[in-house]
Amino acid sequence: MEPTIFDLILSKEIPADIVYEDDYILGFKDVNPQAPVHVLFIPKVRIATHNDLVEDNIDYISKMHLAVNRYAKEISEDENGYRIVMNCNSNGGQTVFHIHMHFLAGRQLQWPPG
Ligand code: AMP
Repeated sequence: MEPTIFDLILSKEIPADIVYEDDYILGFKDVNPQAPVHVLFIPKVRIATHNDLVEDNIDYISKMHLAVNRYAKEISEDENGYRIVMNCNSNGGQTVFHIHMHFLAGRQLQWPPG
């Protein structure tokens, strides 16, 4: 598989504004933010889409949620609230094929999304 832009961020071959890191997960600011806070949380292994989650790698999803909780608390947006989004394939609007959670916060978000 060709490396995605997120693989290059993980290997530090291209820069990113990293705001969170633990043994399993990296969090960095989205270059095209859709809210005052827009951070992408990615697993440190390549899982292309939500469809590729299986028993062997599903724990990364738990780790991503824990990372989000820690970060939301750290920036004091946990009580205000936030949205987490995972896009899958074409209809979902996925453009980078390394799963990621969009963490959006800092303003009232509309529902339903477009
Ligand atoms: P998705 O459409 O769900 O696949 O989301 C991919 C996201 O990655 C988009 O919101 C992009 O703005 C973001 N993105 C693409 N390249 C970079 C980059 N080099 N650094 C940070 N965010 C990026």
